[in-house]
Amino acid sequence: MEPPPLLNAVEHLKTIIDATPTALVMVDNRGLIQLVNAQTESLFGYPRSQLLGEPVEVLVPHRFRHRHPQQRAGFFNNPEARPMGEGRDLYGRRHDGSEIPIEIGLNPIQTDEGLFVLSAIVDISERKRLESRFRSTVESAPTAMIMIDRSGTIVLANRESANLFGYAGDELLGQTIERLVPPHSAAAHPELRTQYFAQASARRMGEGRDLTALRKDGSEFPVEIGLNPVATDEGTFVLAAIVDLSERRRTIEQLQQAKRALELSNIELQQFAYVASHDLQTPLRAISGYAQCLQADFRDQLGETANLYIQRTVDATERMRRLINDLLSLSRVDSRAKPFVAVDLNDVFEQALTMLALEPGTQDTVKAGTLPCVKGDQSQLMQLLMNLIGNGLKYKSDAPARVEVRARRNNRDWIIDVSDNGIGIAPQHQEQIFDIFKRLHTKSEYPGTGIGLALCRRIVHRHGGNIWVASEPRRGSRFSFNLQGIEDSNTQEPPDEP
Ligand code: ADP
Repeated sequence: MEPPPLLNAVEHLKTIIDATPTALVMVDNRGLIQLVNAQTESLFGYPRSQLLGEPVEVLVPHRFRHRHPQQRAGFFNNPEARPMGEGRDLYGRRHDGSEIPIEIGLNPIQTDEGLFVLSAIVDISERKRLESRFRSTVESAPTAMIMIDRSGTIVLANRESANLFGYAGDELLGQTIERLVPPHSAAAHPELRTQYFAQASARRMGEGRDLTALRKDGSEFPVEIGLNPVATDEGTFVLAAIVDLSERRRTIEQLQQAKRALELSNIELQQFAYVASHDLQTPLRAISGYAQCLQADFRDQLGETANLYIQRTVDATERMRRLINDLLSLSRVDSRAKPFVAVDLNDVFEQALTMLALEPGTQDTVKAGTLPCVKGDQSQLMQLLMNLIGNGLKYKSDAPARVEVRARRNNRDWIIDVSDNGIGIAPQHQEQIFDIFKRLHTKSEYPGTGIGLALCRRIVHRHGGNIWVASEPRRGSRFSFNLQGIEDSNTQEPPDEP
């Protein structure tokens, strides 16, 4: 077989140049095209034969053509390699007259035949398309967005950001970002910016401290800023999304004012309830005391009717004393509130039982499963359990009362159930019974003031929970409330519910 003909060195070079993925165009010092590669042919849509020997201006759009020979001459006078990149994005003109965005790198080549310039041309249509899509996304974003480069210069600022900072149109472009930073923080800002660029990651700026920004008119406003590094061919940029917090701040302040006003009126109400209850107790004690003296000293002289009246007076004052005491407890849920601590409900249950003191000889029983530790006010939780267990015993049916306290898990909370086998509650009353003074029975049927469950509800609410009842008449009741558990290894897990 005959060996393939050896390409000479020039042919060899041409093959390499043709295989280069970049369009290459070499011109002589008259600006005439001396060499193009296959990439140039396909990029500009010309066959090589139509380009060789032509002025390079055929590849320049008409609108730039007249300046080009002068620029070319300038380069030949000062021939230094100019790499692609910054500020070198231009346009080329294709055979069909259409324009393509390009980037050009220039390399002077000294030869025996004089100075040539080799241009490397890259089509940047795709990059431009992505960039313009990015710009229009940012522009149409409903949030103020500003992009800066490494030197802190604003390279992109959407309409929202101009509005927010009180600038017109493109006024922000080219400004340093420190223009938007209030004077008290501006000095430190360039350093923070440099640090951020060194370790750029998406994050919130000024977390945990009150960040403010500066309007054109010099006024400051509270902001929240999200930072996002944007890596491009031209290096890293930072895109900042800025949210004006003024409105949110105002709303929070108004809410806080309303809350303060409410707290104040609550305190006044509690003080009133306290003083009223307290002041009522003294004359009440006097009435009861005198009535009892009357009975003790003159029982025999008074007739049966008079003695009955005295007895009724004493009973009535006793009921009123209970009522006043209950009202006092209710007003103290907030006024005597203690800070929350870890409370072991097993202890609370024992205390409640001691306070309730089941009568000896009774067949009634009160039991509890293993109870958890919760966060709360020990003495209030004791009042809560005491009231619920007390009701379970009080509103019993003919059978001996069985009251049970159990705990079950509900996510991070505990639900405590206090169940009884008593008379139950009709569905239409199950909401109202938590209202103050709401009773379903006369005091001759079951003694009481109608405050117990209102007190329970207020205590549970103060602990951030809810209280509710499930019941059917004659089938017993189950009062339930939820409390926040304590997440530590000491938390006791109750046995699984059946
Ligand atoms: P009091 O017991 O002083 O009447 P409460 O506020 O504790 O006041 O209860 C309100 C009403 O709810 C009671 O009058 C009673 O009718 C009903 N009630 C409360 N607990 C139970 C219970 N365990 N079983 C049946 N009814 C109950």
